[in-house]
Formats: sequence, structure tokens, C-alpha cells
Amino acid sequence: TSKRKPLIAGNWKMNGLGSSAPEFVTVIGAYMGPMRHAVDLMVFPPATLLTSFATATRGAGVLVGAQDCHPEPNGPYTGDISAEMIADAGGKAVIVGHSERRADHSETDALIRSKAEAAFRAGLVAIVCVGETADEREQKRAAAVVGEQLQGSLPDAAKAENLVVAYEPVWAIGSGLTPTIAEVEEMHGFIRAELAKRFGAESDKFRILYGGSVKPANAAEILTAADVDGALVGGASLKAADFLAIAKAAQ
Ligand code: PEP
Repeated sequence: TSKRKPLIAGNWKMNGLGSSAPEFVTVIGAYMGPMRHAVDLMVFPPATLLTSFATATRGAGVLVGAQDCHPEPNGPYTGDISAEMIADAGGKAVIVGHSERRADHSETDALIRSKAEAAFRAGLVAIVCVGETADEREQKRAAAVVGEQLQGSLPDAAKAENLVVAYEPVWAIGSGLTPTIAEVEEMHGFIRAELAKRFGAESDKFRILYGGSVKPANAAEILTAADVDGALVGGASLKAADFLAIAKAAQ
């Protein structure tokens, strides 16, 4: 059992329309019970649903966030949204450096760090994602890659209240594949040690999430692994029943 309150975060990616609201309302309803005391819950819908989801969760304890932000507060950046806009829409958190952003939008560690800094500036929690590719793991470079990503993408001002690290091996995302529990514990232990080097005693308080093909069937095993303080859930977060089953496994 962890001294840190577990966090289960659902990343909806580019999924969800206004008609998805009932699915989300089911999650809120279930969370209003005893689960609320044992687990933190966050949902990251597409930006188009941020306001309506934030309104729906008011007072319910489920936090809503966005999947990305621009480093600047405003300006000539067509199609982007800022951390301040997310906060204004009722968001409390933002995911930065997801592997799909790193790969599809060529995001660098330096950019991701500036986005995390923007999140802090706007009073949001930043969930910073790191993780190696299949090739990097095969070449036994997983820890080196993750270490470099942490070094480059975590702001100096990070605190346990405003920063969560998500370890998401790229090859495990959406693939149905997961690392062994020993591999998860090894990487989470490594990340904790890197945080200790950089942030000292505070490192004990940071939450480190595992992400990549977490499902109701494997959640309990993953969530009880050492140094795993919750999960970032993609596909399985779209169905309220699955997402809630994962949250229950975290209690
Ligand atoms: C993710 O992309 O953050 C993720 C963990 O996806 P999935 O759960 O679908 O593997």
C-alpha cells in the first residue's frame, strides 16, 4: 500500500461528442460514494467537452483536464489552447508530453517542459508523460531514455501538488501488451530515484502513474506494484464500467 493517494486518470484522446456525457455522468455518480475518499479521479476529454464536463463535475470531486496546452498564455497560435484557457473552462489539470504528441507533433523535452511550466503558471496540475519505444527497450536503453525525458521535461518548480509523472511505454499504448510487474517496478523505482536526485525529500510525495493497456483484468496487479501510484488509462476510460472497475482496483 502506498502512502500516496492513488490517482486514476482517463485520457479520452480524440474521442467523445456531446452525446458521451451520460457515460461521464455515470462515473461521477459512482465516485460520489466511498470511493471518493480512497482514490483521486481525473478525466481528460477532448477540449470541445471541457466546459460541459467541468460543469457536470462541479462539487463531485472528479477533476477534469485537457490533453495538451500551448506554452504561451495567448497569441497568434491557430488551433492551440493555453493553460489559462483550460483553467478558465474549469479544467484543473493538463497532460503534457503524451507519446502521441511527442511522435505525431514532434514535441521535444524542452517544449514539454515549457508546457508544464505554463500549467503551473495557470494553477493546473501537469501530468508529464515519459516512456520508451519497443526498439529502445530491446536495445536495453529504456531507463536511459526515460531518464533523459525526465531530465528535459520536468520543470525545476515541480512539486508533488502540481506534478504527476506518467510512465507509459510507447509499445504498451493501445496494443494490449504490458510490461511484466517486475519491469514496471524496476522503471517506477528508477523514476522515483531520479526524482530524489532532482527534488530531494519531496520526491517521496510525487505520484507516478503507469499507463499502457490498463484494463479491469490487469488493474489490480499493476496498481499494487511498488511505486505505482495510479494509472493513466486510454481506451478503457471510454466505458464508465471499465474505468470504474479500474478505479475500484486502486482502493
Ligand atoms: C494512453 O494513451 O495514455 C494509454 C494509456 O492508452 P491505452 O490505455 O489505450 O493503452
